[in-house]
Amino acid sequence: MNANEISLSGFASFNLDAAILKALDKMNFKEPSDIQAQTIPLIQQGKDLIALAQTGSGKTAACAIPVCNRVDTSRTHVQALIIVPTRELALQYATEAQKIGIYKGVKAFAIFGGEDPSLQQSKLKNGVQVLVATPGRLIDFIYSRQIDLSQVETLILDEADEMLSMGFYDDLEFIIQCLVHTHQTLLFSATMPSKIRQLAKQHMQQPQEVNLIQH
Ligand code: AMP
Repeated sequence: MNANEISLSGFASFNLDAAILKALDKMNFKEPSDIQAQTIPLIQQGKDLIALAQTGSGKTAACAIPVCNRVDTSRTHVQALIIVPTRELALQYATEAQKIGIYKGVKAFAIFGGEDPSLQQSKLKNGVQVLVATPGRLIDFIYSRQIDLSQVETLILDEADEMLSMGFYDDLEFIIQCLVHTHQTLLFSATMPSKIRQLAKQHMQQPQEVNLIQH
């Protein structure tokens, strides 16, 4: 199959794998949303990015599309790590990434508190390339050495302001310290409190900024 065999949409301009374009077509994603149009090219260039965006803007796919496109499916280790504040968001994010990556064979999975960790552990052992996690459960897995983050190439902090207001600053710092591989960092937030600036200053390299919040 090649990109010409499926109905070409605005997404075709992003130089995406035909299997990703097919998935977007099946999902009925015809045109990129504003945030997708602005962030996907920057993410594909490997830039660090701070994006101010609300839920409903299409921010999940803005990351999940380039991330799934980049995954090397011949390798089974975690290549993209997405940290989110809540279980609901973790499930939502992983479901969207699974749909986007389905024809390419990308394995996306969510780990979060409140569910038997052994179930999540056995799934991880089968190989997960895109891992979505809440901070607490991820740290439990790091401490118990049940997760290998040594090959993470993309780190995404989603709803970063929510995570900070829930008291996760130190947890995020700890998780970032555990990423030994050089990685791209993408930070999504609805607001930009000074703590987020601080986090970005310490852990991001000349981040590009995209602001889609209407005031
Ligand atoms: P989000 O802001 O990521 O929570 O996305 C809001 C909703 O919009 C989700 O149901 C997405 O699946 C959907 N969505 C995201 N991008 C597009 C698009 N380009 N076309 C149509 N629907 C989209």
